[in-house]
Amino acid sequence: MTSIDAERFREALLDERRRVEHALATLRDEHRGSLDEEVEEIGASDNHLAETATATLGREIDYTLGENSGQVLAAIESALRRIDEGTYGTCISCGEQIRYERLEATPWASLCIDCKRKAEGG
Ligand SMILES: [Zn+2]
Repeated sequence: MTSIDAERFREALLDERRRVEHALATLRDEHRGSLDEEVEEIGASDNHLAETATATLGREIDYTLGENSGQVLAAIESALRRIDEGTYGTCISCGEQIRYERLEATPWASLCIDCKRKAEGG
């Protein structure tokens, strides 16, 4: 009775996995570069404080992005597993079918929108 074309989403998930893996690799390279720069900045004049603060803020955002990418990657892997198991497209919490529109927007979604909202405490 399922109307979800899981194979279609498998392609989207594999594409997205490549994209996220590339983004994570790029982030790691950038972090290595900025850490080297930071070592050289230490001991520089106070005029550089504002710039250093900005650089630090940018790095924190990058780390957050990296964390999110890691979570997305894990979600993609588990979605691919669910395609293999034939359970893709159903909410792992309540077992209801996840709306097609939601899967189109977020192919690695494992919760229906109701459970997702509950999980986020909203
Ligand atoms: Zn649910």
